[in-house]
Amino acid sequence: MPDRSEDDSRKLLRRLRDSLAEPGHGQERLNRITSLIADSMHTEVCSIYLFRDEETLELCATEGLRPESVHKTRLRLGEGLVGRVARSAIPVNTANAPSEKGFRFMPETGEEIYSSFLGVPIQRVGEKLGVLVVQSRAARQYSDDEVYALEVVAMVLAEMTELGAFNGEGEGEALGALHKQPVMIRGGTGQEGSAEGQVWLHEPRVVITNPVSDDAEAELVRIRAAVGELRVSVDDLLAAQSLDKDQKQVLEAYRMFAHSRGWLRRMEEDIQAGLSAEAAVEKEQSATRARLSQVPDAYLRDRLHDLDDLSNRLLRILTGQGRDTGAELPENPVLVARNIGPAELLEYGRKLRGVVLSEGSVGSHAAIVARALAIPLVIHAEGITIEALNGDHILVDGDQGFVHLRPEESVATAFRDKIAMQTQAQQRYAGLRDKPALSQDGRLISLQMNAGLMADLPSLEGSGADGVGLFRTELQFLIRNKMPKRDELARLYARVMDAANGRRVAFRTLDIGSDKVLPYMKPQDEPNPAMGWRAIRVGLDKPGVLRMQAQALIRAAAGRPLSIMFPFIAEYAEYLDARAHVLRQVDREAALGHAIPAQLEIGAMLETPSLAFAPRAFFEAADFISIGGNDLKQFFFAADRENERVRRRYDTLNASFLDLIRHIVARCAETGTTLSFCGEDAGRPVEAVVLAAMGLQNLSMRPASIGPVKSLIRRSDLGALHRIIDAECAKGVETVRPAVMDFLAKQS
Ligand code: PEP
Ligand code: MG
Repeated sequence: MPDRSEDDSRKLLRRLRDSLAEPGHGQERLNRITSLIADSMHTEVCSIYLFRDEETLELCATEGLRPESVHKTRLRLGEGLVGRVARSAIPVNTANAPSEKGFRFMPETGEEIYSSFLGVPIQRVGEKLGVLVVQSRAARQYSDDEVYALEVVAMVLAEMTELGAFNGEGEGEALGALHKQPVMIRGGTGQEGSAEGQVWLHEPRVVITNPVSDDAEAELVRIRAAVGELRVSVDDLLAAQSLDKDQKQVLEAYRMFAHSRGWLRRMEEDIQAGLSAEAAVEKEQSATRARLSQVPDAYLRDRLHDLDDLSNRLLRILTGQGRDTGAELPENPVLVARNIGPAELLEYGRKLRGVVLSEGSVGSHAAIVARALAIPLVIHAEGITIEALNGDHILVDGDQGFVHLRPEESVATAFRDKIAMQTQAQQRYAGLRDKPALSQDGRLISLQMNAGLMADLPSLEGSGADGVGLFRTELQFLIRNKMPKRDELARLYARVMDAANGRRVAFRTLDIGSDKVLPYMKPQDEPNPAMGWRAIRVGLDKPGVLRMQAQALIRAAAGRPLSIMFPFIAEYAEYLDARAHVLRQVDREAALGHAIPAQLEIGAMLETPSLAFAPRAFFEAADFISIGGNDLKQFFFAADRENERVRRRYDTLNASFLDLIRHIVARCAETGTTLSFCGEDAGRPVEAVVLAAMGLQNLSMRPASIGPVKSLIRRSDLGALHRIIDAECAKGVETVRPAVMDFLAKQS
């Protein structure tokens, strides 16, 4: 940048900063700022448009346009040139504004006399705040230096906005206070339940208190030192012994960026223009984020993400924030994060009232842990990490997938009523704890719970479960960063059996692959992991872990009865192979002098339609069969259980799916094989009662579902319901749901 404009730019930034220190309302400050900018940039017009809500921009201050239009002129995101800048986060620079595509004439502003237009986004690391515009009568294209200077000014405005410089009260004020208004964010359900509490940001936002520097030289020294420290830390990571090839590759890319001359040079230029080191990092980070949203190529997007991550690290080095804040968890903390790993979430444990993620997925490890801990979880809550501040009042509706941030009192009251009703219902269910799930027509259904973590064990007593119908052993593998040892697992399994106190626990051998990738196992690059090398397929191809798990289980049982089942068996031969591995371990353990289980049941999970049609010999050989409804349904309907677009598309009460269930029930009945169902549907009262009516005597579900399911079973005539289902299916309906709902409504 030429010296003249560099000087101008610094002078302007300082004047902006000084105007902050002067007394006055937010609106007065904004007015002052527009005239300062117009003056410094030698333009007739300077206007500031700020977001009123996500979709609407409002003219909040102007020098040059008609003052009556302030707080009157509004534009939708994408509308007109201002809306275009806001949407794309890219400047628009034109000598002839009316001839530009998308131009919208706003007569109330009197802008028709101004031909040239330059608009730049006001944004703060991905958060769109508004648009800063200058206009002149003369038809001229603004120079690159002028565009750059205006971007730097916009950056300072963004920081000032964040610091609350333009907040005001009452009509006509510039801005309602940022991060103070109520916001409702619609996401998706990760785990049902409701919670009220205070925001706890997993990674707190870095606050920049001084975006403008007085001493460019000192700031240059700071940024160079911080980049130096960053480079050393990335180099240190790379030098670690334990890295595999893929981790190395990722870090190499990090190193490339950390050592990039271009990145540092751009930040140095920003500092020369008058920004502080922190503001310079953020300016480049904002630019990266804007580019990120435009890049269609996934690989490039990942690389830009790396750069984003490095910017965050650099900011933390510069400000010392977010390293170890020493801050204490607030009362009733609700964790807010972009994403979180399972081990980190477990560390917080039951202290959390709720979790809200802007990313995440239903099958993610974090969701699995949240479910195990019965913490309400909302995923895909876009923008939550930007909107929320530590300590904000927050309501989490895990049932509907909503979040209310800083809610109005009326919303909070309605929400509390809902929680109170749920608590009452829970109390009613608690009264059923020791009662059997006995239907009106005298059928006894065994209700068991799904588990996978030590944190689940107290639920065994509390829920009144008859046992553990599914113990997902992979969770113990997922939450560590190295493979657990046999003796460690044996101790853990023994504690599970101790807690079960004689009740049956069905341990499922490791189900990894697909979405469940162990941090210490090389991820497989598979075109379709859900149908790829996963679960028992890995177990049979690399039987070391399967054998080790079998040994750990046998030792944990120490002579007690033991139940083991294999995930994802697709054909009889796989079951036989896996079973043979386990039986060999029994012989080996006996030879080593360990007690062998008093009774050993070896079962299979039926999660692929193929197994429902396996030879009779399979049904004879399996000691028990457990339907993994989540997977079975996804493969039956060819609808990915992880994909929000399709995962709810097909009804479990679809007659074709029930026909498959009927077939499985009949085949197990022929051979007298015990059958259970342990997918999520077993925990949904209506689905559960239908499954029970169709002949499933064992249902395994999350502990919190046992009460509601038991309550409905006890009120239902399962035989009559079965007849309704059969009659509906015979009629050729697509789903039996309407008839079932009608029946259930009448009986209660
Ligand atoms: C299932 O697929 O229904 C099941 C219980 O296993 P998971 O959800 O762990 O795949
Ligand atoms: Mg499964």
